[in-house]
Amino acid sequence: LQEKLQRAFKNLRGQGTITEENISEALREIRLALLESDVNLNVVKATIDHIREKALGTQVATALSPTEQIIKIVNDELIEILGKDTARFKFSSQPPTVILMAGLQGSGKTTSSGKLATWLKKGGHRPMLVSVDVYRPAAREQLAIVAKAVGAQIYTGKINDEEAGTPLVLRLAKEALREARNFGNDILLVDTAGRLGIDEALMDEMKQLKAALNPSEILFVADAMTGQDAVNSADAFHKQLGITGVILTKMDGDARGGAALSIRNVTGAPVKFLGTGEKPEQFEAFHPDRIVSRIMGMGDIATLLERAEEKLDRGKAEDFAKKALSGDGFTLEDFRDQLRQIKKLGSMQSILKMMPSVGPFQGLQQAAEHVDDSQLARTEAIINSMTKKERIDHEIINGSRRRRIAEGSGVSVQEVNQLLKQYGQMRKMFKGLGSGGGKMQRRLMSQMGQMG
Ligand code: GDP
Ligand code: MG
Repeated sequence: LQEKLQRAFKNLRGQGTITEENISEALREIRLALLESDVNLNVVKATIDHIREKALGTQVATALSPTEQIIKIVNDELIEILGKDTARFKFSSQPPTVILMAGLQGSGKTTSSGKLATWLKKGGHRPMLVSVDVYRPAAREQLAIVAKAVGAQIYTGKINDEEAGTPLVLRLAKEALREARNFGNDILLVDTAGRLGIDEALMDEMKQLKAALNPSEILFVADAMTGQDAVNSADAFHKQLGITGVILTKMDGDARGGAALSIRNVTGAPVKFLGTGEKPEQFEAFHPDRIVSRIMGMGDIATLLERAEEKLDRGKAEDFAKKALSGDGFTLEDFRDQLRQIKKLGSMQSILKMMPSVGPFQGLQQAAEHVDDSQLARTEAIINSMTKKERIDHEIINGSRRRRIAEGSGVSVQEVNQLLKQYGQMRKMFKGLGSGGGKMQRRLMSQMGQMG
């Protein structure tokens, strides 16, 4: 988006104010970017109108380029829509605090219940889980497995054949509440049944659960990949139940996060968490600014770095940032280190998806589609076959050295060439990041600073 905006604004430079005429092209790009990110059409329209209003008549400040200025306006606007509240919970004054998970089947309620329990435990809470999905025994079994995996308490209760449906659901829920109170659990997380679509029976049961448990939070779990459908069902749940927050799952896929914007706009409920994978720890507090940059195509470097902070060797990460940003200092040795660290982080694809999709990064994004992780191992093997001297100074790797390296690692010379080319591109990219994008550098550096 930024590149396109730059083009759209080429002619604007030197003019005093932003006018209807000269922002129309930029607004068109913004509209497309929003639509591509699955933002609801009505929300797009309202947002664009608002941005137009704000932008019109704005003096083109000399300190900012018009592109930067409009990007700032768009950024601020989107962040405003998303709100600043992240993962804050309302806790009940009379524990246990009840959190009701709502949403359609397959949206990720059970998985997110386990993730949320993990997150709460990290924050010093003692959550108890209960599944009231009495319609699918497998669903209750699934929560039991999840609870065990994350080391959270679970109330399973006893089910006999005489009871079924909503009465059973309510009995289990109330028993779990009593159990949590007796055991001193400060939070009860209630995983509920979902249906394939919204129906009256489901809503009725949810309403009765709400009445019986008086939950402090009703979290709507939405599958980000379903885009507009997620928005519509959020709306329906909100009208019937009054949701207090949203967990947006499957953000590790292609979804770019527009659903967050639309759901917030339609329901007024803040997105509180993102699910970014199937594992219990693939879960993060929602930060509006990050989604906005993701929507704007700037990538989610902050999240990437935060993830890196958790998984990577701290000192190495700092070294890497310093070296990488200085461009010249980034050797093949560092590259190999980085590959090894990436293995710890997760798949290459999911990492590359978080990189910006503009400028020098564009190629990387496309490359991500083709990367398979076995390639990582090959790349590492090639670098392993180099001498230390070669790793530190890639310029000495001439034709005969390339042949030797290829033989040593069991690949073709072309592959060695390819790797060296990639490495060269990376150096260039990092250098650009370090010098050109001052803002990006500051962001990276401040993240790194927080790590140290
Ligand atoms: P429920 O029917 O709402 O309880 O949904 P589940 O928790 O059973 O999840 C449905 C499927 O989505 C499962 O295969 C989960 O592993 C998967 N899933 C849930 N959250 C995420 C996520 O954040 N990312 C990915 N990739 N898969 C997820
Ligand atoms: Mg479930």
